[in-house]
Amino acid sequence: MAFLCETVKTSLSQLLADAPALVLFHTYHPDIPVLTPSSPDYHTHHQEYNAYNAILPLAIIFPSNADQLIAAVKYCTSQRAPVAITVRGGGHDAYGRNALAGAVQIDFHLMKEITIQASDLKSSEDCIAAVDPGVTAIELHRALDAAGRAAPTGWVGTVGVTGWACGGGYGLEAGTWGLGVDGIVGARLVTPNGELVDTDDDPELLWAVRGAGLGNFGVIFELRLRTYRKPRYLAGMLAFPLHEGEKVLSGLQELSDKGQVPANFSNELMVNTTELRPAIMFLFAWVCDGEDVTSGWAFLARLKSLGTVVLDTIAETSILQFHELLHQNPAVTARGYYTMHSLALPRLTPELIKLVMDRPPPPGGTSAILFHYARGRTLQPNLAAAWANRDEHYIWTPCGFAELDANVEQKDAAKRWSEELYQAAVDAGLGLEKGYWSLSRPEHCDAVRFFGEDTVARLRKLKKKYNPQNALPAALPVLV
Ligand SMILES: Cc1cc2nc3c(=O)[nH]c(=O)nc-3n(C[C@H](O)[C@H](O)[C@H](O)COP(=O)(O)OP(=O)(O)OC[C@H]3O[C@@H](n4cnc5c(N)ncnc54)[C@H](O)[C@@H]3O)c2cc1C
Repeated sequence: MAFLCETVKTSLSQLLADAPALVLFHTYHPDIPVLTPSSPDYHTHHQEYNAYNAILPLAIIFPSNADQLIAAVKYCTSQRAPVAITVRGGGHDAYGRNALAGAVQIDFHLMKEITIQASDLKSSEDCIAAVDPGVTAIELHRALDAAGRAAPTGWVGTVGVTGWACGGGYGLEAGTWGLGVDGIVGARLVTPNGELVDTDDDPELLWAVRGAGLGNFGVIFELRLRTYRKPRYLAGMLAFPLHEGEKVLSGLQELSDKGQVPANFSNELMVNTTELRPAIMFLFAWVCDGEDVTSGWAFLARLKSLGTVVLDTIAETSILQFHELLHQNPAVTARGYYTMHSLALPRLTPELIKLVMDRPPPPGGTSAILFHYARGRTLQPNLAAAWANRDEHYIWTPCGFAELDANVEQKDAAKRWSEELYQAAVDAGLGLEKGYWSLSRPEHCDAVRFFGEDTVARLRKLKKKYNPQNALPAALPVLV
């Protein structure tokens, strides 16, 4: 997305025509950029990663700092007829839950600061990064690397760090450092009545932000994340031919069952069928213990023995370099028509493997079956987090993709494949109760199923305290 330039603003006449409720806001705060549908830049700035999400907000407000954010939130909630608010960080919610028709969208493109707070950057744990709400994964890696630090993120560089971490946060270093929620040590929020709250003053709020805080208690404008000394790191792509899928996937499950998958290993697993890319692909990542790279190479050799390797790019690299490599691959960050479903699956069972092998993604596109691999530190219970799913599992996502210029048949084929594969897995009873609401369609997101009744009751109580009026009706997870 093009970056918002200083001059982008909606004129008073456009505001009067499109969003009269915001005229006074513009009068009081002429320095805060606002875009409405008839401003020429509105549609450029409102490009969703998933082109199926075409909800147009009443207006988009771009705060640059906490004061401007407070002004925007206060204005919307204090109207005689309050204007609903939605929030957009990295814009990657696959189902468009950062926008609502008739609501004001607060867009964080202008809030991208990262402050690394530590007196001793050489220590391995005691270093916190305070991250603005517009920061994306690749921006975080760049800032941390320059300071000799590292932290886990997901594998797509354009995903917002706040959305990723507060919603769960699977990733390429999660085996070693845990989920995004486990790395959150604090947050600052603006509540719907414009108050500034720090989780240091309310441990219950910190617990809630770790897995359930995307809009339920207010707008998060600072997330404080644990960082680590930059480790030695092995990473790359490892691929096997599709017809060996059964052997490779059951071999991986067997290694896991025997307790032979060390926590240093994190992995995103993919099944895809493009001409250029082989079919069963591991995004392999290994965070070394100190100087020990030998164990990583030894584990890689075990993985390679699962089948016939057709691609192996694994090398010693840095976390930043590997994420940059992925970020620069146009297929990873491409806008397009995505149909995503997701289920948490306990294991790579023969039944699941057969399902996957019988229904590979349609050829000639970048549709894929993605598996977030939850192992190691990801599974360690964390009672200080509302996040629920600590049983051994994969987050399994058949992701149908069609290019922006795809025709109706291509779009339908990708959509149908994703929907049918998901439904077949549901019908076969393969999914767990606790899944991943960040990657689940709204109609499949039942908070009680994901979190359990007790956790939901606790979350609702907290929501009553901070946001009784439900000022952010698209908040995640849905608690009302
Ligand atoms: C291509 C792709 C790859 C992904 N890869 C991974 C992965 O590797 N691992 C993983 O765990 N997940 C992954 N996800 C899921 C992703 O982490 C979530 O969808 C996440 O919520 C996206 O955050 P965002 O800021 O980019 O999106 P947005 O659409 O901007 O925000 C997502 C939700 O969070 C809310 N929100 C965002 N910022 C704030 C804030 N500051 N205060 C309050 N609410 C806020 C929004 O209102 C919206 O409801 C991926 C998704 C996509 C589309």
